[in-house]
Amino acid sequence: METLKNCRVCGKPVAVSAGACPHCGAKDPSLPSGTRAIIGGAAVFVVVLLSALLFVFVVKSCGLLPD
Ligand SMILES: [Zn+2]
Repeated sequence: METLKNCRVCGKPVAVSAGACPHCGAKDPSLPSGTRAIIGGAAVFVVVLLSALLFVFVVKSCGLLPD
């Protein structure tokens, strides 16, 4: 028997393997609300942080900033 979870949007039971809710059409209905946003936000944060570190490293190694 297929595992059912409640859709995060409409709250109706949806198969975990379903890619979209058959009731309201929400994508990945078995995922808790906000999970994708959190993952996306974390990825953006890491990219921004690495870019900032790289920028500081390049500026310092070029001697553009006086110590
Ligand atoms: Zn739904």
